[in-house]
Amino acid sequence: MFSKTQPADLAVFGGAPVFDTIRSISNLVQPDVEQFLGYSKIFHAAGQYTDHGAVEHELERRLAQFHGVEHCVSFAGGFWGLVLSMKCLALPGKTEVVMPSLTYRRLADIVAWAGLTPHFCEVDPVTLSITAEKAALCINENTALILGVHPIVNCCDIEGLEALSAQTGIPLLFDAVESVYESYRGRKIGSCGRAECFSMQSSKLFNAFEGGYVTTNDGALAARLRDMRHFGLKDDGSLDPIGIDAKQNEIHAAMALAALDDVDDQVVRNRARYYAYKRLIPTVPNMRLVEFDESERCGYKNIVVELLDGWPVKRERVLAMLHAEHMLSRPYYYPALHQKRTEYAMVFGDLSATERLAERFLMLPCGHFVSEADIEAIVALLRFIHTHADAINERFPL
Ligand SMILES: *Cc1c(COP(=O)(O)O)cnc(C)c1O
Repeated sequence: MFSKTQPADLAVFGGAPVFDTIRSISNLVQPDVEQFLGYSKIFHAAGQYTDHGAVEHELERRLAQFHGVEHCVSFAGGFWGLVLSMKCLALPGKTEVVMPSLTYRRLADIVAWAGLTPHFCEVDPVTLSITAEKAALCINENTALILGVHPIVNCCDIEGLEALSAQTGIPLLFDAVESVYESYRGRKIGSCGRAECFSMQSSKLFNAFEGGYVTTNDGALAARLRDMRHFGLKDDGSLDPIGIDAKQNEIHAAMALAALDDVDDQVVRNRARYYAYKRLIPTVPNMRLVEFDESERCGYKNIVVELLDGWPVKRERVLAMLHAEHMLSRPYYYPALHQKRTEYAMVFGDLSATERLAERFLMLPCGHFVSEADIEAIVALLRFIHTHADAINERFPL
């Protein structure tokens, strides 16, 4: 499949692209259509399309079981699950949320939508994620919440953050979107901290078109979240001070159930893709695959590589070349959140490690539509770029 012999053959310089259609980093898993239609017939027969119908009820039950947790509350999107959980858990009268800056691009906005202020901490350079030690440096008399966020590969320092939360009395919430399938020290993700938030947007491991959910063992928190997502209407007819329409609808829940039925098979397929990269990336000099910790349960969803010192071509040029070949690679969480312009206040100190790390990592194509032959072609291109680095750099405009 890969037949380039000289830099002029690169698509960015006018050659034919390696792939006719785009290979993306999004999962875009397609569950079995008959399963999806089967679940859809349930709400169709009942004539109920939203408002906690039978399909959504079943989805919440199945997700709670999947995560080994007592309660699951579903939402129209991961975004609102996070906003409303922060609203419930933030210490009254305090405003700062301690969170990493090297993370999901909209996460600080979500904090602002909750009426709170992001206070960014450094990340650990090995795990690329928040640790108790880094978070502790950002805690002050105005801290309302600690937001533990899992990185794209493996989990963050859950036990350390739980100890910090117990020690300081500051509630701990997890954004566990990227670790939905994982375990941490043998414990299933879903029951850590006060609550954990997940997304079922179509690029995530569970594809519900759109959607999200929160898991918790706190019954009062789950009950309040159910009211809040439904206009703040309580069972006794009174109103919660905070309410919004953030319910999940039945057809999205039907898709989510079909995705849940398929998830173990999907992970097997993801693992095969990951092993192909693991076998091939070592053939590219100055590049390192960020490896999954296989002593834990892993979802193998995304492929992250580091451009090591000595990698000879700027990351932006590598991305331009990959895109021209229809390989939709992305930089890993770049720019970091504190480097973006926002309309709300942010608090941070020296984040030089985050800034350095934000320049070094790439996400490579993976997921449902990427074959092992595709992966061989992608890695062959990376090798080709390394081999012809000098000639390539000469051809690039500044
Ligand atoms: C996608 C994502 C979200 C938001 O989920 P939506 O369902 O798209 O609103 C939050 N956190 C992380 C880490 C994500 O990747």
